[in-house]
Amino acid sequence: MSAQESEKLANFPSECLEVKPLCEKILSYFPNADIDQVQRAYLFSKKHHEGQFRRSGEPYISHPVGVSEILADLRLDLPTIMTGLLHDTVEDTEATLEDIEREFGQTVAELVDGVTKITQLSFKNTHEKQSENIRKMIVAMGKDVRVILVKLADRLHNMRTLGHMPYEKQKRIGQETLEIYAPLASRLGISSIKMELEDLSFRFTHPDRYYELVQKVSKKRKEREKYIDDVKKILEDEIGSRFKGGFEIQGRPKHFYSIYKKMAASNLDYEQVYDLLAFRVIVDNIPQCYEILGHIHTLWKPIPGRFKDYIAIPKANNYQSLHTTVVGPGAERIEIQIRTHEMHLVAERGIAAHWKYKSSGKVDVKMEEQMEWLQELVSLHQQSGSSGEFLENIKTDLFDSHIYVFTPNGEVKEFREGATPIDFAYAIHTDVGNHCVAARVNGKMVPLRTRMKSGDTVEVLTSKNKTPSKDWLKYCVTSKAKSKIRSFVQEEERKRARQIGQDLLEKEFRKYGMSLGKNLTDGKINDIEELKKTGANNVEDLYVRVGYGKMLPKQVVKAVAPDAKTLDEKKEEESFLSKAYKSAVQRKKKSRSIISVDGMDDILVRFAKCCNPIPGDPIKGFISRGRGITIHKADCEKIFAIDHDREVDVAWTVKSAPEGVERMARVRVVAQDVPGLLRLMSEVFSSLGINIYNAQIRTTKDRKAVCLFDVAVKDTAQLSKAMQNLEKIKGVLGVTRVTQI
Ligand code: MN
Repeated sequence: MSAQESEKLANFPSECLEVKPLCEKILSYFPNADIDQVQRAYLFSKKHHEGQFRRSGEPYISHPVGVSEILADLRLDLPTIMTGLLHDTVEDTEATLEDIEREFGQTVAELVDGVTKITQLSFKNTHEKQSENIRKMIVAMGKDVRVILVKLADRLHNMRTLGHMPYEKQKRIGQETLEIYAPLASRLGISSIKMELEDLSFRFTHPDRYYELVQKVSKKRKEREKYIDDVKKILEDEIGSRFKGGFEIQGRPKHFYSIYKKMAASNLDYEQVYDLLAFRVIVDNIPQCYEILGHIHTLWKPIPGRFKDYIAIPKANNYQSLHTTVVGPGAERIEIQIRTHEMHLVAERGIAAHWKYKSSGKVDVKMEEQMEWLQELVSLHQQSGSSGEFLENIKTDLFDSHIYVFTPNGEVKEFREGATPIDFAYAIHTDVGNHCVAARVNGKMVPLRTRMKSGDTVEVLTSKNKTPSKDWLKYCVTSKAKSKIRSFVQEEERKRARQIGQDLLEKEFRKYGMSLGKNLTDGKINDIEELKKTGANNVEDLYVRVGYGKMLPKQVVKAVAPDAKTLDEKKEEESFLSKAYKSAVQRKKKSRSIISVDGMDDILVRFAKCCNPIPGDPIKGFISRGRGITIHKADCEKIFAIDHDREVDVAWTVKSAPEGVERMARVRVVAQDVPGLLRLMSEVFSSLGINIYNAQIRTTKDRKAVCLFDVAVKDTAQLSKAMQNLEKIKGVLGVTRVTQI
């Protein structure tokens, strides 16, 4: 520390001690800084926030000081740090912009004004509004990116102290941070702030998942630390013996949110997620980066498709590095980044890294060049009137989990990733959704299930005759589309049930030599006690109830004419459809079946022994004489022999079978005959909560073990998970599902 700095710190005024650590930080990277100004800004802010408190009970001034310290960590200039101290004074105290300009000059006043404007923006906390929110923020920021940096620091400090807020507010603010501030930090390349914002948001938006993960991660900490040390040591030895220049190696676990995203994206448990560790080799110059890469690829096998050269082709935010993933010791996948010291600075501090200090305290011109992206953004917005055009123009990775697509007349629509033209159609209008047949994306015809991408121009084709089908539910992500499709399908089922009900009743009446029509005109139907009891007091409701199997046709006849007798001789001719329904309805269970027949979920069914369908399998149903309805797998060979007229519409009513009604499935495993195999295999089932009902093992002549497991599973997903895990066992040669049990 220079004599000048020591003197400044030694004579630190006692009323400013709270900002002494802040001033030390500033002097460490900017020795000539005029810290008197920092002290003045602090005193001004403290005076105006006097009597205000944070939720934690601390005096309010602790917040602006915390914000300024974050800004000093990014090594920003004095006006920015002073803005950190003053950022809430105009919004929350008597102080005016004129006061600030008089006391601290025009630059600081403009920055405070920018931050105040952003603070006053009301962000709508819905997905639909995200683009608008970010646009607002960029516009409010004006030409000076420092405004955003102060706002990011402000948000980071608020997130760090969010624990004092009520639960609902934590969730909302966490969500907003995840949707707006973390992507913005990422776009500006400030990975340190981005990662901290993501982890904090994750903790407040998904506390259960967060703490569960923290616990799991900490359980394996010792193991992981040792592994990191091992890898570092190998790298140091190997590189050290071949490489002339200086180098630095860092190893760390990835941050929680990125692990969580990985788990969520591929539906894995923590134990199954690969490349949780990231290593970094930092060298002096670019040729050395490639040299190190060569050494690493000689040492460990790279995983194809994972090498990225961000040195030759930097990211939009100027990030540069080489990325590779290799198979490290113990067959563990590890990610390695190779970069120079300068690149490292940019990676950690992003746009803030471009502040260079001259003795005058002026900012280096180089920074201005690096900010081209932001300036372009602002001028783009000024040129283009609508936010649609604006978004079309920027198309940045800010919006990584959302897509923006365009209507033929240039209006922008926002969707979650995975959305299809079906979502798009319903977003336009319910009628468009209900009648869409196909879509044109960027002028090309595509099926409705096609996933849309950001920047696509989407046009939906409709036809009066087309109506929604249940299948569409699989291909849409928006709640609007889902609920509209569901209500349409339910209405259709109701109509069908009504028709079935009417048919069944007409037949039933005929069976007794009576006429439904005549009883209707007599008004007798309306007097049925059972109908009145349920409040279903018109004939339409009666048809529906009969159609759904909630009331038997016979009950209706008996209610109208208690002494009616059937025409015995006609009994044989009775359509077997009606018979099948009758027998099915008579045997109906109290509980809801996992299969629905013609939209009704209380019809008794049996599963074909030839193919044993389980939830998740595509299925077909057939009426079998006297035995109700039999469910086959849609690809079962037996069904080719069955008369097509007997087919009825069947569907699973559940994604997976509830406890107690799991379906039996048989799995065949062929493996090398090695000891302990059975234990490993049964562990696979028990770890997934699958009960084994029967296990058979025989050994073949060529010393292979063939095992058959009969297990009770909930659905195909659970079964395939088990089969995948079985395949991972060392020595296992093949795993197949046997459908015939
Ligand atoms: Mn604030």
